[in-house]
Amino acid sequence: MDNASYLYRHELQSRYRWLRFAPDVEREFMRFLRETQSFNFVACVWIGLALWLGVVGWDVLRYVQHIEGTAIEARYLQTVIPARLVNLLALGGLLAALPRLRNSDWLGAAGLATIAVYCICTFASAYFYKLLGVGDGMAASILILMTVLFPCGMTLRQALPTGLMLLAAYWFTAWKILPPLHWMAFRETASLLTVCMCMMAFGSYLRERGAREQFLLRRLLDWEAAHDPLTGLANRRSFQRHFEVCLAQARRDGKTLMLAILDLDHFKLYNDHYGHKAGDRALQQVALLLGHYAARPMDLAIRLGGEEFGLLSYADEVPALTRRMQHLLAQLQALQIIHEYSPTAPCLTASIGIAQAEPSATTDSLFLQADAQLYRAKNTGRNRVCGPEDTEAQSRNPAERTAVAAA
Ligand code: GH3
Ligand code: MG
Ligand code: MG
Repeated sequence: MDNASYLYRHELQSRYRWLRFAPDVEREFMRFLRETQSFNFVACVWIGLALWLGVVGWDVLRYVQHIEGTAIEARYLQTVIPARLVNLLALGGLLAALPRLRNSDWLGAAGLATIAVYCICTFASAYFYKLLGVGDGMAASILILMTVLFPCGMTLRQALPTGLMLLAAYWFTAWKILPPLHWMAFRETASLLTVCMCMMAFGSYLRERGAREQFLLRRLLDWEAAHDPLTGLANRRSFQRHFEVCLAQARRDGKTLMLAILDLDHFKLYNDHYGHKAGDRALQQVALLLGHYAARPMDLAIRLGGEEFGLLSYADEVPALTRRMQHLLAQLQALQIIHEYSPTAPCLTASIGIAQAEPSATTDSLFLQADAQLYRAKNTGRNRVCGPEDTEAQSRNPAERTAVAAA
């Protein structure tokens, strides 16, 4: 079984109560989270901006109707308006920087810094209102903050510093703006805010566990759609996709693309005599062996179905691939998977056909060519490799080659 699917299954079973996966899966999850969160994040910044513009409109009305020409006009202009402007600038700046920040590690820090500015300015305006006696903006401020922070879909590790920062901003602005006389009046709101932050943290914990589960299930589903469950090799569907990508790349780079088809010899007899389970184990052993021959990023080992496998090899040559496939056959024989009923050899063997993709090739045409070579390998004694340019010497099976070399 492929390592990746084993890891996802293992994580699913562990239930991730501490909201941590193994390092590799955790890194992948963070990438997944960044993609899914970025939409929520942008939406929340826009909501914040819209709410704040509404507040500015409200301020202008209030200014024109009540404050203009009064004794508090100057202080109002010096305090509330700059707080509004700084907030708008912070939100606008974050929106402008988002395309560049989206895939960077700085996104979290920039988001946190913006939330800090947002909180400080929101609370500062409410305190200024109180100080200037132009109304009580605290309830509206809390509503604005919650409206923006809750739908953000923060993880627990994002929600905790955000909550702490919000409370710190609350007391910091009170300390800076209000005389101590007023501080006590804001104690109740602080308790309410603390309860709100605890709820936000709990909600984040539940949501993050849900997001982790969704991530693992989606990855497993993707994996299962692209792989063969018995051997863990790529299946025919991912072969088709990979083949098209490789062929386009090969045309562009002027490189070759080769396909080797491997078919186990007399496998029906093997199954009939040793049972289906033993057959499955043999298929897994062959798959493991073949997987080692697809180590380069563009190469792909595939289970084509039944006891047939494929190897897509990028930028290869027929003689080189023939040699590697002959080496594979020798390794398969070295595994000594006993097959007493095989007319070819006392152990399990395979025949291999090789084809090279023309620039105009399709999967079907490449398969036809490779199949023709496989047919040749089967008809000339099995346990050998046949390709378009091979000579008689090259297509001998491992035992024949050893005998010729000894003679
Ligand atoms: P040849 O040398 O001509 O290829 O003969 P063969 O017996 O290998 O070919 P044939 O197509 O007659 O038989 C293929 C056998 O592969 C039939 C089936 O029992 C076995 N097989 C196919 N899929 C599986 C599988 O998933 N597990 C097991 N254990 N056996 C399978
Ligand atoms: Mg077959
Ligand atoms: Mg066969």
